[in-house]
Amino acid sequence: CGVVGYVGPRNAVGVLLDGLRRLEYRGYDSAGLAVHDGVNIKVVKDVGKVSDLASRVEGMNLEGGLGVGHTRWATHGDVTGENAHPHVDSDGRFVLVHNGIVENYLDIKDQLEREGISFVSQTDSEVIVQLLSKIYNGDMVSSLVEIQRRLEGSYALVILNREDPNGFYCVRKGSPLVLGVAEVEGLCASDVPPLLPFTKDVIYMDEGDIAEVRGGAIRLWDKDGRPLERAPQRVDWDV
Ligand code: GLU
Repeated sequence: CGVVGYVGPRNAVGVLLDGLRRLEYRGYDSAGLAVHDGVNIKVVKDVGKVSDLASRVEGMNLEGGLGVGHTRWATHGDVTGENAHPHVDSDGRFVLVHNGIVENYLDIKDQLEREGISFVSQTDSEVIVQLLSKIYNGDMVSSLVEIQRRLEGSYALVILNREDPNGFYCVRKGSPLVLGVAEVEGLCASDVPPLLPFTKDVIYMDEGDIAEVRGGAIRLWDKDGRPLERAPQRVDWDV
């Protein structure tokens, strides 16, 4: 399983597909991606290989400088197209990919269903994006602080907001997430290989960290929303 995020001047589609291929060694049953075209976010996902996703995307004319990709190793919910990631909240504002397991997802799901939210998948992951939509207060960082107070389990999250075509957010606990810092573009991934064609300067996210990636600018906060300073590390891997 794996996640990738990209923002920058290139078409995100190719970057995400290449990144997902570089994470295939982690194993998966489904693959998907979402691209922000400046106005809307389009989601393409299904069971199968990254190569199947690539053929599906081909000829769709998908284009945009911001996007997320995912390979799923199903833990909660069958291997189906609906359960593949990215997941979208009922208002269509947030798009999220998740690696990991939300232990208390049934409690949160029950509560959200009682408040009238209907779910389209059986995953623990959709609970996160629906909850985010529910508690979003206009400020991503404090909303992600609150999300982390409510979630039990492990997660590497990459999140797009339809109202924000120039950046993405990451949160990490228990599952790995690495940020890549380049001149005018920014990336994140479950492991270093997807970042290597762009940069060798990486930041390993710590437990509870929240990150905003906006072009080549990365900002970090701890789980309580306090700003963090962390210098990138240079990796000496070869592509
Ligand atoms: N628990 C989530 C699911 O079953 C994410 C699995 C993963 O890490 O790929 O959809």
